[in-house]
Amino acid sequence: MDIKEEYKEVKGKYDVIIIGAGLVGSIIARRLSQYELDILLIDKEPDVGTGTSKANTAIVHAGYDSPFGTLRGKLVVKGNRMFYPMCEELDVPYKITGTYVVALTDEDLKTLEKLMENGRKKGVPGLEIISGEEMRRREPLVNPETTGALYAPTGGVSDPFMLTVAAAENAVMNGTDLMLETKALDFVVEPFSLHKKKVAGVVTNRGTFLADVTIASAGLYCDELMEKLDIKYDFYVRARKGEYYVFDKAKKGSVHNVLFPCPTPVTKGILVTTTVHGNMLLGPTAYELKDKEDTSVRAEGLAELREGAKRLVPSLEITDVIRVFAGLRAGGFLHDFIIEAPAKYWGFINLAGIESPGMASSPAIAEYVENLVREQGLELRKKKDWNPIRVGRPDFSELSPEEQAILIEKDPRYGRIVCRCETVTEGEIVAEIHSPVPARTYDALKRRTWLGTGRCQGGFDTPRVIEILSRELGIPPTEVIKESWGSNFLTRPTKDVPEGG
Ligand SMILES: Cc1cc2nc3c(=O)[nH]c(=O)nc-3n(C[C@H](O)[C@H](O)[C@H](O)COP(=O)(O)OP(=O)(O)OC[C@H]3O[C@@H](n4cnc5c(N)ncnc54)[C@H](O)[C@@H]3O)c2cc1C
Repeated sequence: MDIKEEYKEVKGKYDVIIIGAGLVGSIIARRLSQYELDILLIDKEPDVGTGTSKANTAIVHAGYDSPFGTLRGKLVVKGNRMFYPMCEELDVPYKITGTYVVALTDEDLKTLEKLMENGRKKGVPGLEIISGEEMRRREPLVNPETTGALYAPTGGVSDPFMLTVAAAENAVMNGTDLMLETKALDFVVEPFSLHKKKVAGVVTNRGTFLADVTIASAGLYCDELMEKLDIKYDFYVRARKGEYYVFDKAKKGSVHNVLFPCPTPVTKGILVTTTVHGNMLLGPTAYELKDKEDTSVRAEGLAELREGAKRLVPSLEITDVIRVFAGLRAGGFLHDFIIEAPAKYWGFINLAGIESPGMASSPAIAEYVENLVREQGLELRKKKDWNPIRVGRPDFSELSPEEQAILIEKDPRYGRIVCRCETVTEGEIVAEIHSPVPARTYDALKRRTWLGTGRCQGGFDTPRVIEILSRELGIPPTEVIKESWGSNFLTRPTKDVPEGG
């Protein structure tokens, strides 16, 4: 790629630059922000967490299934232990529900034994195989033919969108610079020693930024960055699509447990699970494709979901569906995380293949990266005033009538409901637009407030939200976007429209 001359102008110098403000990059930034370091976190999109982190199953895996001896297998167990305390600090919702792998045959029971043995070897606490009868007692809707289940009490569910926003916010509160719509195009590479070169910074569409250590955490696009540095693994990155059904919270006959089928070598299979917000969720499929932006949902995918889910819960009616969606795993055939400082460079840390359970592992990934940063020669001195606590803004729907009245008294915008299904007020929307990691798009607000996620899926709130974004950001309504550039809701009139017309 020919890089424009203006991009080569040096705009700043940092100790650490992190490329990619997904869940993993944001949690790394937060972890490093406890040290006296100048940190820059960049993302090519207008918001944090718009890649893989925005569409996944959101399960805090206990860690019994990732193979013993792999980095993924090690980090998920540690990550699970660190995950819930991190959510507490960041005011992110989570539920320690426990998870079940359901066996439907005697053969499946052997798989449960193997999973339990793998988990115990890795130190997953509390694993237990329960009888089919006990499983049916705990979840009456489960297939009556259930022969047993592996119960992992430390498994749970969380909110990956809020986690990404909260971690990025906490990093910013602690001095990290966040630059959105800033795409890493190339690297600054300098001679270092006989066998090594130094990665001395990043060339972006907003100029060049130098750094002592550059961390690439670009999810599905890690291969594009690796290509720039000629880093090759016995590994390729392909998007692996996972499709889902989401049901209305009020659906009768919903399952409120996390139920996995017995896994295959390629996928954990179609789950029937609950989100942390109380919606039943079916998914995901596992369909490999070349297009890293193709999040369309296939009819075959939905058929596969229905069939898979009915095996676990035969009485399940596919009614009250409020949404179907797809996420893209940053899959590679290694099926392990790659997190390393490649030997031929100094000052560069690469993350690749961070597929599931990347969310559950994320705090342990950040700790692992911190050690690599130290090995790259940076002295990590703790800040005296580091604040790990991030307090979320009020969720109007969760407040008591008395608390709601106090809030409305202080700011009448909390008295104006914009999203009726999820009871989201204008006050909450405005607070998010002016927060430390500002929401500047419709989907950014959706991820932070849950507006537009209810039964009407934004039918009621969208025009009002466009108006509020336009007013608060000082831009014309035609410039308000849904997610990425080009996703404008409105177009300019092509000719003068008569008044009132
Ligand atoms: C279907 C599915 C189900 C899953 N289920 C679970 C689960 O239940 N539990 C679990 O623990 N994990 C799960 N995962 C895995 C988890 O979602 C991921 O591991 C995690 O979100 C990865 O985060 P990330 O930050 O590495 O990637 P991303 O979220 O993709 O972030 C990468 C960021 O880099 C940015 N970027 C890319 N290129 C550039 C560039 N050149 N310059 C600047 N920015 C750039 C992107 O815009 C993006 O924001 C699932 C994943 C999928 C897809």
